[in-house]
Amino acid sequence: MQQAKVPVTLITGYLGAGKTTLLNRILTEQHGKKYAVIVNEFGEEGIDNDLVVDADEEIFEMNNGCICCTVRGDLIRIISTLMKRADDFDGMIIETTGLADPAPVVQTFFVDEDVQAKVALDAVVTVVDACHFLDAVDEEHELAEQVAFADIILLNKTDLVDGDKLNAVKAKISSLNRMAKVIETVKSQVPIADVLDRGAFDLSRVLEFEPGLLDEEDDHEHDENIISISLKTDNPIEPEKFSNWIRGFITERGVDVLRTKGILNLSGQENRYVFQGVHMVMDSAWGAPWGGDARSSRLVFIGRNLDEAELRSAFDGCTVAA
Ligand SMILES: [Zn+2]
Ligand SMILES: [Zn+2]
Repeated sequence: MQQAKVPVTLITGYLGAGKTTLLNRILTEQHGKKYAVIVNEFGEEGIDNDLVVDADEEIFEMNNGCICCTVRGDLIRIISTLMKRADDFDGMIIETTGLADPAPVVQTFFVDEDVQAKVALDAVVTVVDACHFLDAVDEEHELAEQVAFADIILLNKTDLVDGDKLNAVKAKISSLNRMAKVIETVKSQVPIADVLDRGAFDLSRVLEFEPGLLDEEDDHEHDENIISISLKTDNPIEPEKFSNWIRGFITERGVDVLRTKGILNLSGQENRYVFQGVHMVMDSAWGAPWGGDARSSRLVFIGRNLDEAELRSAFDGCTVAA
């Protein structure tokens, strides 16, 4: 008897759109199913893995580059390894970096024979940030591609925009992809049944706008000016110094800073302080207690024209010792 293929859900979306929030929702919901999760992150120092809630699921991190360019081999290897114990889970979820072009990732499921025999792409779920989408879509090729490839679009952060802007975003989305099911959400809140096990991926639709998809040579470019800078310190952070610095920096440089993420060890606090930003919009919350874990602070910036030395010295300047 032929075994049913394991469904794979690909979660894409631009930097800060709400992918990890969606992933956390899926992992914490009581659905009685077990998923293997693969998270791909841009930059050396992985943080997304720690932003993903503690769940039973095993999480595989791929930090060595962009999933669509350099780590496709890793992706194939991870999937092949996972498939050796396919009985242990009901599905696979892959979260790509916000900078990934979905084309090469989707291609993996159709050109690699080993992968193709065992898993089936169930749906491409693209999370769109209603607030920042229109500003970025014409500049960032990947963002338009992510929408074009989507079977399901989570139009997220609808609470941050007015009706006119929401309509403009919807019109832009439908100009890029008329077939996708668009679900409006706040904080990626969506019934899990609307995104998993949809059987929604349609290769023929994709081939209409990306006819070269199955040619292995199909290459794609990235904005080479976008870089990722990871900072780390073991000295506790002085909250006031940090907030003064980061506010000033983001206000001044928010246009260039596409994404900020941090897990901070604030002096005298029991819990991790989780900090996130998209351009000038910032958000923070208390995370899990440090308990016996080694305390350290990590901060990641993704953006243009970022000066690593300058950021490093400013960040070090926020420590208690400084
Ligand atoms: Zn890439
Ligand atoms: Zn492309």
